[in-house]
Amino acid sequence: MNSKKNIQTDKAHLWHPYTSMTKPLPVYPVKSAKGVYIELENGKKLIDGMSSWWCAIHGYNHPVLNRAITEQLEKMAHVMFGGFTHESAIQLAEKLLSILPGNLNKIFYCDSGSVTVEVAMKMAIQYWYAKGLEEKKQFLTIRSGYHGDTWHAMSVCDPETGMHSIYKGALPQQFFIPSPTLQFHEEWNEKDALHLIQVLEKNHKKIAALILEPIVQGAGGMKFYLPEYLKKAKQLCETYNVLLICDEIATGFGRTGELFACNHASVIPDIICLGKALTGGYLSFAATITNEHIAETISGKEPGVFMHGPTFMGNPLACAVSFASIDLLLAYNWKQKIKEIEIQLARELNPLKTNNKVADVRTLGAIGVVEMKEPVDVASVQKKFVEKGVWIRPFGKLIYVMPPYIIKPDEISQLTDAIKQIISDL
Ligand SMILES: *Cc1c(COP(=O)(O)O)cnc(C)c1O
Repeated sequence: MNSKKNIQTDKAHLWHPYTSMTKPLPVYPVKSAKGVYIELENGKKLIDGMSSWWCAIHGYNHPVLNRAITEQLEKMAHVMFGGFTHESAIQLAEKLLSILPGNLNKIFYCDSGSVTVEVAMKMAIQYWYAKGLEEKKQFLTIRSGYHGDTWHAMSVCDPETGMHSIYKGALPQQFFIPSPTLQFHEEWNEKDALHLIQVLEKNHKKIAALILEPIVQGAGGMKFYLPEYLKKAKQLCETYNVLLICDEIATGFGRTGELFACNHASVIPDIICLGKALTGGYLSFAATITNEHIAETISGKEPGVFMHGPTFMGNPLACAVSFASIDLLLAYNWKQKIKEIEIQLARELNPLKTNNKVADVRTLGAIGVVEMKEPVDVASVQKKFVEKGVWIRPFGKLIYVMPPYIIKPDEISQLTDAIKQIISDL
């Protein structure tokens, strides 16, 4: 391709996420991607440290996933889900049921992470409506959370990083409590749940659900909190008649060392949201899954149907590739592999703890985070990473990696070496 002209068109006409339309951060044209490598138009190959935002757990251009999607394509790319069903949707359902915790067995397929959060929030409200408790229509969440960019998903994102001030007056008002202070490896103290108890005690009559990212708060700050907090949250939700929605869009499918992060606490939420790695990073697709009781309650009261039905619901291509991706994950010793990634990331990043520019280093599962004391200049740091042959995109004070699970030890070392060198050059 004529990359100079293409870059001009891109710069003049294409929005990219979270960057200015008129003075955008630089973008790097990608030619192809295979395994853990992303190849740029100029021929440079980068080791992927981001899994394209949690998605590409098996790496890129995987023969098994390619085959699943092309075989489905030969049959049909799409049919409406209203009045039709198909083998790919059913097979994926069976696969999900075999891995989901507890009694989560009523599956709603939808388009993206943000939409699955909207669907979960609507389910919670329609559940209480069906129970005759229409005043329960607000949500409780913890600060530093991220749940997506659509309207109600945004209303439960962290008010500061989610920029609530821009949309003030237009966004629905929700209840916020500080995020847990105790980190994953610290000792539990009941005091960490004090805010949760207070807000629930005072406002439970107005609260439909507590929504949170279990164990790992992703885009809102890459913080890891204790399973005991989640356990306590579940208990309190039961006590106060509030549903628990676990947003596992980033954490699902092994990333934290468990298939789902709520498994760390043996907590079964009332509603779970899956997305991102569901398709192995091939297509935008998501699922909202609840239990029989909630599904029956919603269906038991006028209008007797759940009020959502996206055009591309149950898209066959997405279902086929999701099925293949989960199958692929379960076919090898993913738990062992992720433990090895965790140990190596910790061993290689922990020495940075003594660096005076570094505030904290933390690792969990296939996630490694270096929190700096000062915000990082994305454009210049990104450029240096690319020069070193790795793809790591910092945000705010965070330099972090969550590589595809297929990454090899020497490739992990190249990621961590690049991080160490760049920090020492800052
Ligand atoms: C990415 C993400 C979302 C939003 O998903 P989209 O597919 O980008 O709409 C929601 N919640 C969490 C925890 C996420 O990481």
